[in-house]
Amino acid sequence: MNLPLTIAMPAEASAGPKTYRLLIDGKFVDARDGRTLERNSPGHGFTVSRYAQAGAAEVEAAVTAAHKAFETGPWPRMKAAERAAILLKAADLIEARLEEIARLDALESGKPIAQARGEIGGAVDIWRYAAALARTLHGESYANLGDAMLGVVLREPIGVVSIIAPWNFPFLIVSQKLPFALAAGCTTVVKPSEMTSASTFVLGDILMQAGLPDGVVNILAGLGADVGAPMVSHQLVEMVSFTGSTRVGKMTMASAANSLKKVSMELGGKNGQIVFPDADLEAAADAAVFAGFFNAGECCNAGSRLIVHEAIADDFLGAVKALTARVTVGDPLDISTKVGAMISSEHLAKVTGYVAAAANDGSSVYSGGKQIASSAGQYLDPTILRGVTEDMAIAREEVFGPVLSVLTFESIEGALRIANNTPYGLSAGVWSASIDTCMSVARNVRSGTVWVNTFMEGYPELPFGGYKQSGLGRELGKRAVEDYTEEKTIQFHRGQRTGWWVG
Ligand code: NAD
Repeated sequence: MNLPLTIAMPAEASAGPKTYRLLIDGKFVDARDGRTLERNSPGHGFTVSRYAQAGAAEVEAAVTAAHKAFETGPWPRMKAAERAAILLKAADLIEARLEEIARLDALESGKPIAQARGEIGGAVDIWRYAAALARTLHGESYANLGDAMLGVVLREPIGVVSIIAPWNFPFLIVSQKLPFALAAGCTTVVKPSEMTSASTFVLGDILMQAGLPDGVVNILAGLGADVGAPMVSHQLVEMVSFTGSTRVGKMTMASAANSLKKVSMELGGKNGQIVFPDADLEAAADAAVFAGFFNAGECCNAGSRLIVHEAIADDFLGAVKALTARVTVGDPLDISTKVGAMISSEHLAKVTGYVAAAANDGSSVYSGGKQIASSAGQYLDPTILRGVTEDMAIAREEVFGPVLSVLTFESIEGALRIANNTPYGLSAGVWSASIDTCMSVARNVRSGTVWVNTFMEGYPELPFGGYKQSGLGRELGKRAVEDYTEEKTIQFHRGQRTGWWVG
């Protein structure tokens, strides 16, 4: 790697920040008090975006609009086929603006542009999948209750849903929630992260163009305490769909409990990849590097704990280190970049603090470990730590940076103990040619997803979510729309009722 990094300034730097207004009841509006939030590109250092900054008044207006749209508007009442048509139109419009959206996400989050394009393409696919599910949503009927009875179980949209999203996959994560809530017939208030809101406002524009009725989707930029918190506690909100840290997830659940709202939680992870000696070690080494450093490790699914069999540790880690040296770190807008900028200087300091603490605890830096000097922005060298043990904070806590912690094992029982020795349970990976080994790990690891001889693939068809403190509920998959519904049981009685109570 050539140090320091020289970062070229893109055209956006001289054009000045793009401005975005809140979407409330079908109109783009400024905040009532005129406040704005700015976002600097973490990879380049210039101001990319300026958003109107919502507060309590805007939350009230957005929830009221969503509630009105739910109570009296056409969206929950129209045919699923009509809702699906609008979702499909939205998917087409997202696809048409893919480059614009990907560039905004890359500029605001620091992620590589090639990766951002992949994410937006993936989001298009999810919107189409949700449209298909809208038309297959159905309840149940029971004709087995005796000749006089018919039981019907309806699936009805749950109501107003607050959707709160993090910064690491700005457009993709909103797309793992919103189209399913819409497919069910819900109305929504959406809060993207205050650091990466631009692409969600483009989505708002697209949805209005696609023909979504006013008030069905409202979008607010703002801080968690000012906007996220009242979106959770508001009495007219029936469900909260939250993706973010376990810390804020717990606060959100506690607040939602006041009005007994339904919550769906996609939270942090500390995922292990277990490598056995009989694996395809070349493929496993490449996947280990991908899992550790993809999205600069700012990924709930990051395979941040590499759990390697003692017998192969030296050779395998040698291969991992050699591959790591070839990972291009640099300008998020450069097509060849694999690892872009860190989201903020505060977050970079937190990650380097974890590395320093791990060294203090007795592990050693095997590769990287240093901030990369750059002409703009903040970058961290992909880092590998050896000699990590289960008791260290680096082995148990979510670091959320390009830091791979290596632990070793001697037996499958030991590997499983290490993999499960964390409060999280989002995902895990196992590498072995033996079906017995793979099945033993897959069955005994406590996580919502297990990848066998692959890592971090995702499909709209497959449910995603966490065990333990990684979350509550599942997103995606064929039941994703059902999650945004209530069940209503209707019992029909035919003829005169028998078995009177008083007589
Ligand atoms: P965060 O918890 O700090 O913020 C997430 C969202 O919550 C933001 O929009 C924020 O403004 C909002 N928020 C903050 N305080 C709030 C409050 N008091 N009430 C309501 N909302 C509030 O998380 P982050 O730093 O943006 O994202 C990184 C975290 O997200 C990591 O822990 C990562 O593992 C997790 N994540 C999980 C998944 C998953 O699918 N499991 C996916 C992506 C990210």
